Amino acid sequence: MSVLVVGTVAFDSVESPFGKAEHILGGAGTYIGLSASYHTRPIHLVSVVGEDFPQEHFDRMTSHDIDISGIEIVKGGKTFFWAGKYRDDLNTRDTLDTQLNVLADFSPVVPEHMRDAEYLMLGNLLPSVQMRVLEQLHARPKLVVMDTMNFWIDGFLDDLKEGLRLTDVLTINDEEARMLSGEYALPAAAKKILEMGPRYLVIKKGEHGALLFGEDQVFYAPALPLDEVVDPTGAGDSFAGGFLGHIARSGDISFENMKRALIYGSAMASFCVEKFGTERLVGLTEADVNQRLARFTELTRFDL
Ligand code: AMP
Repeated sequence: MSVLVVGTVAFDSVESPFGKAEHILGGAGTYIGLSASYHTRPIHLVSVVGEDFPQEHFDRMTSHDIDISGIEIVKGGKTFFWAGKYRDDLNTRDTLDTQLNVLADFSPVVPEHMRDAEYLMLGNLLPSVQMRVLEQLHARPKLVVMDTMNFWIDGFLDDLKEGLRLTDVLTINDEEARMLSGEYALPAAAKKILEMGPRYLVIKKGEHGALLFGEDQVFYAPALPLDEVVDPTGAGDSFAGGFLGHIARSGDISFENMKRALIYGSAMASFCVEKFGTERLVGLTEADVNQRLARFTELTRFDL
């Protein structure tokens, strides 16, 4: 059941119509790890930070049983920084600043005790860095899930395509799916992307839910209509954490179980957006998570 995650650990500054949060804990690896920790433990994280990264942020991770021994701390280095601002609809985000800092020279080293991981989550990163993690494992994991973004599709397509050949599940948003495939209709986009390597494709559509394609089937999970959305940062990563966390706990990689995983992912994303940064992803109880899962069942159950 061992889960290995590679992804950024970052400082984020976020502005939304509901306020501002400066220099808070962020990063894809952080969100994935915290979210997955509600479903399976421990989560092994491979990442990099600078010497400016505070102990309290490490403590937040270890309190969720995240194994941080794979996080390299670069002496004298500065942690990756990202700043973004959401427009009024909360669906559109403008990146204000990206400072790669220690990420610019990151060459991941997977500690020996993590090299037998059964489940691998390749968080949004330079495709060649994602592959370097996969190469260091003793055996091919039972399931490899990859996330990526428009930036890598745009500038690193060849590397990305190489990675896709080794990936089981790709999770991207609708805009990225269209960009990667050159197709507008999502079923057509999915068909092309599945021909690139992954057996399954998850297309995230923000407040409009998520689609799962594979084995000539398609499944749709809605997003929960929430009373309050404050900060969508990390929603996609929280989704991935819930998705893979459920699969790892159950040990079942069938399409039927992936449908359930889509609901687990959507539930974790729904928590994430309710507060700034990782605030809502800490301190949830099992009852909180179960109640939220039950709301999804209620939302979609009907008789004809
Ligand atoms: P999401 O909202 O799911 O797209 O993820 C947001 C997180 O991704 C933030 O916490 C950022 O620190 C991180 N992030 C932003 N830009 C990048 C990038 N170019 N590479 C990797 N991670 C990034």
